[in-house]
Amino acid sequence: MLTAMGDVMRRAYEKGWITTRDGNISLCRKNSKVMYITPSGWRKTILHPEHIMKVKITPAGCITNSKNTDSKPSGELDMHLLLQRYHKGCRAVVHLHPTNIIAAMYAGWDLQELAAEFPEVSRYTRVGPSVPVLPVTSSELAQATFKAFTNIADTGTNLLKFDIIGQANHGVCATGHNPWDAYEHIERLEHICEVVLKSGKKP
Ligand SMILES: [Zn+2]
Repeated sequence: MLTAMGDVMRRAYEKGWITTRDGNISLCRKNSKVMYITPSGWRKTILHPEHIMKVKITPAGCITNSKNTDSKPSGELDMHLLLQRYHKGCRAVVHLHPTNIIAAMYAGWDLQELAAEFPEVSRYTRVGPSVPVLPVTSSELAQATFKAFTNIADTGTNLLKFDIIGQANHGVCATGHNPWDAYEHIERLEHICEVVLKSGKKP
């Protein structure tokens, strides 16, 4: 599954959903307190298992456990930690900047309402409320993203009510049992956003 983290990033880059150093992925295996996460600022086109960072999740936060001290975990570490922290199963969290989803939000479309109109999304992907414009890598963005997924601000739960949420002027965050599951939620929503934007209809 660590290989899949790099494969998803390469696919996202080929699709134009990230520029070279954008995006991040984390992965927690079942009943494990170790979170694997992409390194900060790394070129995602050359991301391979040996580049993935390991952080230990503790009650106080996390401890980076890496021999390579030149690397740091993704700047969106807080967001990944909140979404992974209390989960006991296997979970991947993928954050990308998909063009048409961002454009649809920018044009004023409500992603939840849009998804409800298209069965190819609504049958398989639960779309949550979008978060407003917030500084990238901020704890505000991490908290707002967690709240959008759970409907609550309290972090003492692992029950995510949605598979994907939009982040205005920025991107999306999606979760799944593995990196490709999360990727598929993004792909479905991206596809209908492209359709809606091409239709010329206004929100
Ligand atoms: Zn981002």
